[in-house]
Amino acid sequence: MRLEAFPLEFQGAMPILRKLQSAGYEAYYVGGSVRDILLNKPIHDVDIATSAFPAEVKELFHRTIDVGIDHGTVMVITKEATYEVTTFRTESTYQDYRRPDHVEFVRSLKEDLKRRDFTINALAVGIDGTIIDLFDGLDDLRNKVLRAVGNPYERFHEDALRMMRALRFVSHLGFTLEPNTFEAIQEYHSLLAKISTERINVEFVKLMMGSFREAGLRSFVESECYIYCPGLRSYGEALLNFSELRGPAIPTERQAWTLLMAMLDMNITDIRHFMKEWKCSNQLIREVTQMVPALQFRLKYEWDNWTLYQLGRELALSVEYLLYYFEREPNLEKIRLLYQYLPIYSLKDLALKGNEVMEYFDYPRGPWISMILNVLEQEVIEGNLKNQKEDLLNYAEGYLKKEMS
Ligand code: ATP
Ligand code: MG
Repeated sequence: MRLEAFPLEFQGAMPILRKLQSAGYEAYYVGGSVRDILLNKPIHDVDIATSAFPAEVKELFHRTIDVGIDHGTVMVITKEATYEVTTFRTESTYQDYRRPDHVEFVRSLKEDLKRRDFTINALAVGIDGTIIDLFDGLDDLRNKVLRAVGNPYERFHEDALRMMRALRFVSHLGFTLEPNTFEAIQEYHSLLAKISTERINVEFVKLMMGSFREAGLRSFVESECYIYCPGLRSYGEALLNFSELRGPAIPTERQAWTLLMAMLDMNITDIRHFMKEWKCSNQLIREVTQMVPALQFRLKYEWDNWTLYQLGRELALSVEYLLYYFEREPNLEKIRLLYQYLPIYSLKDLALKGNEVMEYFDYPRGPWISMILNVLEQEVIEGNLKNQKEDLLNYAEGYLKKEMS
């Protein structure tokens, strides 16, 4: 079979493949981008595989960066874009169920394709469009089947992360797991305990965000892989409930974690602990710990100015969108409007500053200042008070009198 039309992304990389070939090496498009083109899906990164060794690649191109030279990857920089060029390689003697002990560069495309995880990821395309399909990946693409290259037991034993990758491909592509491949995952699910949380995290997030989330998450539970993921051991039932939520693919990572946390019914302390265990960034944890209570609020009430103000526009829009998953219609426009008409957007916008409060009342510096400012902030946001210095000072005076008496 031959690829009839080259997508723009492939055309951009064509001079690189041509140059490698005219220097006497083999060069192909490989990996996820080939799969995605054949599925008519948008592609993210174009991977190029070549028989040239890294030093040989570097000799051929003016501008390169060693991004993963130990693994044979050199980044080639062109005027328009950058491309990863990886030397054909085999990965040998996996002793700890994760990454290979060492990689060996080889001159054979077949060896390189053999070490890839699934048949649909083991296709290569030459510059004339010929598709090289040594493991019947095209049949599997047509039949929507996800099948390990070679013996699935061996392949998952070599690198247990592949089991999580399998589940996330189910979730993204809606493919079914070939029975042997699924059985091997069921059998070896506990090997996930050997894999670093960071690597599992990447795949788990993609698993949550797929268009076929239900199938992906169901296989995650049925294969018992979830048991060996951080903090999920006792949440099989809740994960199934999560899988059953209707609604489109979850657009962002923070929304995915927020929905998950809501379905697992975790409180703020649990969420923090859970997401730390998953090695999520502090920024993400901060966002999700704000979004979960906001979602619970929104499921019961309409937005009010104070909740909206505290959450901020972007997080509020993110939360509102999640109504889809609870069979409610989000009203994003309303949030935009409400937000636009807020009298202030942060404490900095208040017409009275901390030092002015201190000077005016002439009390010693102390926590009372920020307390007063917070009271004023809330009154202004709720529309009870105008954001004008005089009004604010008057209000503060009355408030302090009441508090001190
Ligand atoms: P995505 O579209 O999400 O990038 P992808 O299939 O391109 O999916 P990558 O992680 O970018 O995934 O990997 C590129 C290719 O490298 C894969 O298509 C596959 O051929 C191979 N690969 C990646 N990870 C593994 C692995 N753990 N074991 C074997 N082959 C792998
Ligand atoms: Mg990729």
